[in-house]
Amino acid sequence: CGVAGVFNSPYAAEYALLMIYSLQHRGQESVGISSSDEKEIYTVKKPGRVLEAIKKEDLEKLKGSIAIAHVRYSTAGNAGGFNAQPLVRETPLGKVAVVHNGNLVNFLTLRKELEDKGIKFNYNSDSELFLALLEEGRTYIPEGVTLHPEDKDFLPYIFYALSRVKGAYSLIYLFRDKLVVARDPYGFRPLALGRKKNTILVASESCAFDILEAEFWREVKPGEVLVIDKKGKRSYRIFSSPRKAMCIFEFVYFSRPDSYIFGDWVYNVRKEMGRQLAREDNIEADVVIPVPDSGVVPALGYAEEKGLPFEYGLIRNHYVGRSFIEPTPELRNLRVLMKLSPNRAVLQGKRVIVIDDSLVRGTTSKRIVSMLRRAGAKEIHMRIASPPVVGPCYYGIDTPTKEELIANKMPIEDIAKFIGVDSLKYLSLEGLRKCVDKPEDFCDACFSLNYPVEVEDNVPSKIR
Ligand code: 5GP
Ligand code: SF4
Ligand code: MG
Repeated sequence: CGVAGVFNSPYAAEYALLMIYSLQHRGQESVGISSSDEKEIYTVKKPGRVLEAIKKEDLEKLKGSIAIAHVRYSTAGNAGGFNAQPLVRETPLGKVAVVHNGNLVNFLTLRKELEDKGIKFNYNSDSELFLALLEEGRTYIPEGVTLHPEDKDFLPYIFYALSRVKGAYSLIYLFRDKLVVARDPYGFRPLALGRKKNTILVASESCAFDILEAEFWREVKPGEVLVIDKKGKRSYRIFSSPRKAMCIFEFVYFSRPDSYIFGDWVYNVRKEMGRQLAREDNIEADVVIPVPDSGVVPALGYAEEKGLPFEYGLIRNHYVGRSFIEPTPELRNLRVLMKLSPNRAVLQGKRVIVIDDSLVRGTTSKRIVSMLRRAGAKEIHMRIASPPVVGPCYYGIDTPTKEELIANKMPIEDIAKFIGVDSLKYLSLEGLRKCVDKPEDFCDACFSLNYPVEVEDNVPSKIR
């Protein structure tokens, strides 16, 4: 998912809309915006993509100078119900809205505990815990934390909520008169602050500031809580964690290449993944082609490192929206052809290295390879700029269940046969770790099975 927040702008809703539009790659299932004019909190939530979903009338409804927004990930096995965010609730602290990116690993346990106390849940989403826990009316002030006088009356309730949840969260609370921003102590998901004149901005990725010609200010730190109101910004560090666990898959695939997250440019890290893949590889070929768009940046790195030409061997149709075509097995094939077509000028008679960022189920790759063969490629060598995905994600990325991951079903030689390539090679785990500054500060559990936070619910992100 993607989140955005705006404090102190006459265009709060419009800014929130533009920011969340630039985060559309983080979720296409639904979009929502809440705003406050200090008297009331207004909310609009719709299924679908930002620009198609949010209409002029919606923006007119979203009054006030404070706003938050969310785009939701399309989750295949959704447990049902309309779980678009912001989630809104009357609490002992007044009406509150919240947007959340990440996934909690003790949702089911905590929900049961709260339901036993008579607290009702209105949605089917782990994010509701951030509101439901406020209803308990319990407070928590971590040792060594001194509260500013302005925050004494409400912040301990939020600290309590945050002390109970486990897992990944980058979130923004909207109160009638303020924003409260928080990032879990492991720092799984990115979250950054920006500003434009007197307006303060919050967003999952820095690309959301560029769309407003705003300034990137800094990242929210793992374990940091920030209050933003008329009196200014007040920062608290309330948790220390045994380690950090920033999601390395944000660099591999999820974040936009022009964003700055986790102390690095996504573009540079992703390109380095391609370079490292080339260093680990001794295949001879004529040309390097990416699977667009996700393979483009690593393919540039790979080609540069090898001194081979980089060409567009696959052309992407950018106008693919949601299709009415039913996903039967035969038609699913044609859906891939709707999105990508082979460029014979580049492919005919050539030994081709095809670069993609990741291989998850193998089904897309199989169709791409047969497309390249039909277009006359002489040899096809598939290279993946990340290691085999062997475990599901419990912290907010929509990886399939363990059983659906092709790397769990068969050895690499068999995957090569299944997708129909002459050879297949992945970036090594050590190689991936070399591409980031401090690998010990990253989660790479879907590649290594080294899960940094114990999973109490045992429900992968995707199921929610
Ligand atoms: P596969 O061959 O495993 O079916 O598909 C691999 C492709 O899926 C890659 O091009 C990769 O960019 C893309 N991919 C990886 N992770 C995700 C994800 O979480 N969501 C979506 N929609 N695509 C993904
Ligand atoms: Fe990211 Fe993978 Fe860790 Fe999930 S398991 S947080 S996708 S690195
Ligand atoms: Mg892709």
